[in-house]
Amino acid sequence: LMQNQQLDPLELKEKVILITGAGDGIGRVAALEYAKAGATVILLGKTVNKLECVYDEIIAAGGPQPAIVPLDMKGATKQHYRDLAATIENQFGRLDGLLNNAGILGSLGPLEHFCVSTFENIMKVNVTAQAVLTKYMFPILRKSPNASIIFTSSGVGREGREFWGAYAISKFAVEGMMQTWSKEVAKTNIRINCINPGATETKMRASAYPGEDRSKLASPLDLMPTYLYLMSDRSIGINGQSLDAQQK
Ligand code: NDP
Repeated sequence: LMQNQQLDPLELKEKVILITGAGDGIGRVAALEYAKAGATVILLGKTVNKLECVYDEIIAAGGPQPAIVPLDMKGATKQHYRDLAATIENQFGRLDGLLNNAGILGSLGPLEHFCVSTFENIMKVNVTAQAVLTKYMFPILRKSPNASIIFTSSGVGREGREFWGAYAISKFAVEGMMQTWSKEVAKTNIRINCINPGATETKMRASAYPGEDRSKLASPLDLMPTYLYLMSDRSIGINGQSLDAQQK
């Protein structure tokens, strides 16, 4: 279905889309592709200079002027998200898309020996921060004619895998959050879905599998049909789904 439709190259024109973890990996490429499709992107991430590089790339490609939000989601409080929503509302009047992409892997190992502070950090960044950000964006997402929220899941968030510890637990929580929240927004202007990227060549993947041949992995660009589909009006009516970005 996704592949067979005629694509409008500017299908995200006029949309305002917030992307977390927009400075690197999958989030960076999603930001570039959303901007290429005409969206005004709000780049949220931890490392300012990475966000500035993405900003420059978008401007150099002739895309709409992005916004930059340097924020460490590990330490962020609800006041940061409240202020961010107020700023977006002042500048743009609404929010049409939210890609919850930022995430951390922590370290792999047996749960019996997990590090408590690492566990808490993973749950904070991968689950709590996504939930709090999304909660505070709701009022401005309500102002969009059709708003799309995407959470980022993982294969280990659907079936447990030994030694994936807190990361796997956090991704199960993400799937559960999407399922629960999507039912509450059914038949509203907001839809909520998950994407499971599948094995993708990024820094996170390299830290999980340091020895593998990276040339055989999908690149972030390979995933973009699914990222564009769920953000565009082609997916209006799709709610509560967890999609794989790679065909098996
Ligand atoms: P990367 O590590 O390459 O990128 C993660 C991004 O998240 C970076 O831009 C990083 O910013 C940002 N980030 C991390 N911690 C924070 C924080 N505390 N506050 C704000 N931003 C933060 O990962 P991927 O691109 O591979 O992963 C993207 C998503 O996809 C994640 O949710 C991941 O779990 C998921 N995923 C990835 C797979 C893969 O094979 N790559 C497979 C399945 C799921 P900075 O660079 O500044 O630290």
